[in-house]
Amino acid sequence: MSVETVKAPKVGFVSLGCPKALTDSELILTQLSAEGYETSKTFEDADLVIVNTCGFIDDAVKESLDTIGEALAANGKVIVTGCLGSKAVDGSADTSGGMTAQNLVRKMHPSVLAVTGPHATQEVMDAVHLHLPKRHDPFIDLTPSFGIKLTPKHYAYLKISEGCNHRCTFCIIPSMRGDLVSRPIGDVLKEAEALFAGGVKELLVISQDTSAYGVDVKYRTGFFEGKPVKTRMLDLVAELGQLAKPYGAWVRLHYVYPYPSVDAVIPLMAEGLVLPYLDVPLQHSHPDVLKRMKRPASGERNLERIAAWRETCPEIVIRSTFIAGFPGETEEEFEHLLDFMREAKIDRAGCFAYSDVTGAEANKLEGMLPIALREERRARFMAVAEEVSSAKLQSRIGATMQVLVDSAPGLGKKGGVGRSYADAPEIDGVVKLLPPEKISKQLKVGEFTRARIVGVDGHDLVAAPI
Ligand code: SF4
Repeated sequence: MSVETVKAPKVGFVSLGCPKALTDSELILTQLSAEGYETSKTFEDADLVIVNTCGFIDDAVKESLDTIGEALAANGKVIVTGCLGSKAVDGSADTSGGMTAQNLVRKMHPSVLAVTGPHATQEVMDAVHLHLPKRHDPFIDLTPSFGIKLTPKHYAYLKISEGCNHRCTFCIIPSMRGDLVSRPIGDVLKEAEALFAGGVKELLVISQDTSAYGVDVKYRTGFFEGKPVKTRMLDLVAELGQLAKPYGAWVRLHYVYPYPSVDAVIPLMAEGLVLPYLDVPLQHSHPDVLKRMKRPASGERNLERIAAWRETCPEIVIRSTFIAGFPGETEEEFEHLLDFMREAKIDRAGCFAYSDVTGAEANKLEGMLPIALREERRARFMAVAEEVSSAKLQSRIGATMQVLVDSAPGLGKKGGVGRSYADAPEIDGVVKLLPPEKISKQLKVGEFTRARIVGVDGHDLVAAPI
């Protein structure tokens, strides 16, 4: 029998959760494809289903459990991976490898074939091999060198580490993903190079704490193309910038804490080596609240630090997330946060009203605020954030910016949608592109265009391609 006549085993795949979970999904899908498995768009048509879950907040837990239930009902053969897989019934970390009824997924859905935690490509593949043996002789390797990507072809997430050494009181990620483990710098750079060569125009560096990259290996020296490179954020960013250059691609940094070591990265932004964009999850400004949150870099002088960054690189855009109504937050502490927002002029800010996360230490803190007050503070915060952000957007009118095109039906004859250096995909605004004035001008997805900013529409800019 020739290989072509052997029906390839089909796997259904559902990827839930954050960009870090997405990169886990990509690694599993890449491996499946390399081994000759096909993917199925429906549960019914698949021989087996993998659900990559999220366990961060209670809504995400519910969505994950519901999805597992649907997959079981429609298909029957289900492997579960991801954060929820390492959660016990009482919200603590499950160390049984999903083997006992103490495991939340196992308890709710006892018939699943296997349960693993996050970052477990090999364990997932072992379970797949057991329940759906691979084709014996897959001559055909259709996997591109940069693996399978779930993002559009022109941007990709690059995960540089897994886990986190901090113990923020509102977060259960360390109990699910463990302490920081940095990927070898040579592997990270090799993956980045393959992504650029494969057409990626924007690389988004992600982790739980990008500024801590290499701490676990004491900034060990690794090798890339025979050259020694330190496992350290500054060296990584410099190398990524150099790799991106010949492709004219962007490098964007996420989850960076405001440690003094980050100051050295800002000149690379001023030079244009990487995007002048920094995603710094600050969560609050008041030292006492930060202490109760057990936040990293809480003792740093964030206002002064941000001012110094802006001096070195005036075009820097800072995105951040905050929590309003954290347990014990006084009106005075909250107003400190509003003043901080006005002064720091955070370009892009998101805010959550505090809510308990099952298993988090903060649930036990004193001074839990009524939900209505938390929501009210969130709304007050967002009103200030929008004022700041809208003034920033208005000031761009008349400027010419480089825009990466994300969507352009009919080659942009009716306009399109793109993003400038100030907009990360999914979380920030966009640049709405008008139909080009010049007949010959075309907009193509995944390509850059210059555009003149002509207006503001909510969180978005409106621009005329030139
Ligand atoms: S830094 Fe804090 S919030 Fe972020 S993953 Fe680590 S413990 Fe969680």
